[in-house]
Amino acid sequence: MGPASDDDVAGWVASLGLDGLVDIHVHFLPERMLAKVWAYFDNATTNYGMDWPVFYRLPEHERLAVLRSLGVRRFAPLVYPHKPGMAEWLNQWVLEFATREPDAVPTATLYPEPGAASYVDAALRAGVRCVKAHVQVGAYDPRDPLLDGAWGALADAGVPVVIHCGHGPLRGEHTGLDVFAEVLARHPRLVTVLAHAAMPEYDRALALVAEYPRVYLDTTMVGVPFTESFMPLPGDWPARLAGIADRVVLGTDFPNIPYSYATQLRAIAQWAEADDRLGEPFLRAVLHDTPAKLLGL
Ligand SMILES: [Zn+2]
Repeated sequence: MGPASDDDVAGWVASLGLDGLVDIHVHFLPERMLAKVWAYFDNATTNYGMDWPVFYRLPEHERLAVLRSLGVRRFAPLVYPHKPGMAEWLNQWVLEFATREPDAVPTATLYPEPGAASYVDAALRAGVRCVKAHVQVGAYDPRDPLLDGAWGALADAGVPVVIHCGHGPLRGEHTGLDVFAEVLARHPRLVTVLAHAAMPEYDRALALVAEYPRVYLDTTMVGVPFTESFMPLPGDWPARLAGIADRVVLGTDFPNIPYSYATQLRAIAQWAEADDRLGEPFLRAVLHDTPAKLLGL
């Protein structure tokens, strides 16, 4: 069933025998940048063709308090640039944020630009445990040779890359798994988390999980009523997760979602209930154990 509302989340998590949630896909940004992101969602009717009222439009300390009240024990605050010359500055900001907030795992991002390999290397040496790549917002080709050194360093380090490379919710010039599959073919050991399960290419995402032992799916916006209205899951989704229960990790896009955190957890709980092979062990794996393993917790 899952939690009826955010007030029920912490109790539901405890009833699964977990000491908390580990969320690999959350966003924190410098205040002025976040204001711009929210302004973009305010114009969602123009930008996305639908309404997108940000549910957790709160000051930073209140957003942190919400995560803690939900029982989110550790989370990866993800940042991403939309132009050159930004990634290194964002990496500095998010590292300071993670130092200040101990439940935030240190993360970094990248962009195809001279120096990408060297600042990713520096981030790894600084102890970063997760990297975000956003192909649609960045409008870059993940096969760009300027990223090759960075992908290689990340593969060697075994640090996961949460990559938004699917066509959904918005198509970009270089989105799509056809494109990203070429990066994987070149760096087959890259620990990859396909954000949003690469919506709407769910089938292809499952095929990549089958092909590459280090490819994972995150649950971000997957299967919630909002998304089902325009990029629905295949009807046999729960059955298809049965063989890869340890390759799915909790992600939510908190705070920039047009529904509550509990809504995402209910979607995941519905998959667990729909197939006897999933059940509570699946929930414990997705909500805690697998993301904790990927983040080295
Ligand atoms: Zn996101």
